[in-house]
Amino acid sequence: MAYKERVESDELKIFRILNNHMTLPSKEKQIYSNLEKGYKGEVMFDQITEGLDKSKFLILNDLLLETNSTTFQIDSSIISQENFLPCEVKNFEGDYYYKSDHFYVMNDNEIQSPLDQIKRSDTLLRQLFQKKKHSISIKSNVFFVNPAFTLYQAPLDKPIIYPTQLNKFFEELNAKSSILKDNHYELANILVKEHKTLSPYTRLPPYNYAQLKKGLSCGLCHSLKVSSDGTIIVCHSCGCVESVEDGILRSVRELQLLFPNIIITTNLIFEWCKVIESRKQIRRILKKHYEACRRGKYTYYE
Ligand SMILES: [Zn+2]
Repeated sequence: MAYKERVESDELKIFRILNNHMTLPSKEKQIYSNLEKGYKGEVMFDQITEGLDKSKFLILNDLLLETNSTTFQIDSSIISQENFLPCEVKNFEGDYYYKSDHFYVMNDNEIQSPLDQIKRSDTLLRQLFQKKKHSISIKSNVFFVNPAFTLYQAPLDKPIIYPTQLNKFFEELNAKSSILKDNHYELANILVKEHKTLSPYTRLPPYNYAQLKKGLSCGLCHSLKVSSDGTIIVCHSCGCVESVEDGILRSVRELQLLFPNIIITTNLIFEWCKVIESRKQIRRILKKHYEACRRGKYTYYE
């Protein structure tokens, strides 16, 4: 297990739910698709670093740090005896080319250079380390993890690890001797403590309850094509089966994530889930897992 685990961000979770329940505007659809893709790439990368010897390396996944009022993100960081290795993980797919320090898609559209990205975070990281009175050499790399990625005119002298080199890179790293001392753990703890969480709402499109398409979604493939016989929920897209209880509780959590101030009532969940025919059953499940509060005539759950 990593010293700091990666978790799906609330932003990604909300985007995913919204994508099931409304048509995202094209700009937000692009943001969402990049988020999903980026996250998938990072998870792929985590599976590789998971193979590192944990007595020799500390792995910190997904750090959002701030120094001098500037925030920067590091997809993954590896602490070894000698070095601090920030890893910029890219899940680019398809053909790209490199020309005088710039990266382009084959249609000549320039994309932000991952090398500039690591240069920027290196500077900020150095400042942060200095402020925290830690000195360890920083060695950043860009990791392209998608096997279907090609970079034409790839530079030889840049800190880039290509998909075909990933395993070798980590095998060699793992073979190195590395003795972790208290100061390494101290640094890791500082960074975990400094890790910030961003408000998930900044890049989301405006949305409200009334506009969203109602329906319980499949817990696995997120399709709304589900039906229920009162005991289980069956997804007609992927065949996944879930108990009604789990499905309802998942839907409650989704609603609370979308609308942090929403008041959970039996009627609300009945309307949102659509496929559960018995209000009584919903009430029983809510009562079992939440505290029932009364206001006048109606009951809500907290
Ligand atoms: Zn499904």
